[in-house]
Amino acid sequence: SLSDKLDKAFHVLKGHGQITEVNVAETLKEVRRALVDADVNFKIAKDFTNLVKEKALGQDVLKTLKPNQLMVKIVKDELTKLMGGDAEEVDLSGNPSVILMSGLQGSGKTTFSGKLANYLKSKKSKQPLLVACDVYRPAAIDQLHVVGDQIGVEVFSNKEEKNPVLIAEAAIAHAKQNGHNVVILDTAGRLAVDQVMMNEISDIYKAVKPQETLFVVDAMTGQDAVNTAKTFNDVLDFDGVILTKLDGDTRGGAAISIKSVVNKPIKFIGTGEKMDAIDVFYPSRMADRILGMGDVVSLVERAQEQYDEDEARKIQKKIAKDKFGFDDFLKQIQQVKKMGSMKDLMGMIPGAGKMMKNMDIDDDAFKHIEAMIHSMTPHERENPTSINASRKKRIGKGSGTSVQEVNQLLKQFTQMSKMMKMMQGGGGNKMMEMMKK
Ligand code: GDP
Ligand code: MG
Repeated sequence: SLSDKLDKAFHVLKGHGQITEVNVAETLKEVRRALVDADVNFKIAKDFTNLVKEKALGQDVLKTLKPNQLMVKIVKDELTKLMGGDAEEVDLSGNPSVILMSGLQGSGKTTFSGKLANYLKSKKSKQPLLVACDVYRPAAIDQLHVVGDQIGVEVFSNKEEKNPVLIAEAAIAHAKQNGHNVVILDTAGRLAVDQVMMNEISDIYKAVKPQETLFVVDAMTGQDAVNTAKTFNDVLDFDGVILTKLDGDTRGGAAISIKSVVNKPIKFIGTGEKMDAIDVFYPSRMADRILGMGDVVSLVERAQEQYDEDEARKIQKKIAKDKFGFDDFLKQIQQVKKMGSMKDLMGMIPGAGKMMKNMDIDDDAFKHIEAMIHSMTPHERENPTSINASRKKRIGKGSGTSVQEVNQLLKQFTQMSKMMKMMQGGGGNKMMEMMKK
């Protein structure tokens, strides 16, 4: 989990119990990566880690016995704050209180309308009325009736009426006459934002002046959710966000991004298709989820596997065409360095596992290799055979190493390339296996 990662990042500190700016920066890089992988917008993740950095350096993190724990606490607290601090419920002060649902088609408006009605009825002793304002799809009206039957809540609809504003107004009058103190307006959505939909929802909004306008968004849509939220908020200035489909392994990152972009509280989350799969949104719980519940971690891992396979395939092609160069080598080194230890690295560079198993490579040796590659020109990286004596001299000088070391690197690289080519000749699968392990 991210907590484990923080532990690892602070491993160095144990024993001397001191955090330096460098340690904090390294750790926050991990946090940032985890957030981005959890679908948090990059800029928001960056602002966030900058904020945490200030806090960490400002507090006496440096002097505590367990700086890693304090660090995790700071990250969690800030994440919680970012998502809104305390839980906020819907405004039920009207008589009736009108709640307007907005959002794209398929986001979960109809389902959530039912869940909310059920919640208000059973937990808040309200008498809700569900209203079908989706005038385009008769099936949508039927769907709301099915939902209403399930939870024992009356559904107001009129298949003859094509103006959703008139339906909403009639429904509110009906609610007043029949003792319903909450009116939930389920509306139509489109698959993407369009002007007709925006005009329609804004007409309803202006006509009925709801106590509460909720924007329903599918958490699985990730980054897109942010843009949609912004568009709806510009038109409706909604009061809260409903994040649906947070069941399974959905990333929670959308919660952070949406909150940061529209600055409206997330009020409820949907965690399943059933009528009781609704939860009040607690920012601190969401922070836990994002930080630890295996959510971020498993995604990071999956993303990693994906990367490995794609990259392996690309490299396989290059080897076949004798195009494997130092840039590819460097990319591999950097990729694995991100992941951790030298041992991992050895496992990942094709051929290198065998080649360098008996060598005692430490991280300094690694730095030297990188420095040498950085001192090569792009042409040299692509064509290692072009590196003659004078070029070796220049590379050695540029990287603060010696011609001897450059020679050694070239030799290893040539052997490695040969070996990779050979392995591929013997069957690409073997190669893929090696790269995966
Ligand atoms: P609408 O077009 O916005 O009214 O969306 P619907 O309420 O019809 O929901 C679209 C689909 O998403 C349906 O198949 C729902 O069962 C499903 N759905 C809605 N909310 C959730 C949720 O929280 N979790 C899961 N897994 N599915 C949901
Ligand atoms: Mg619907």
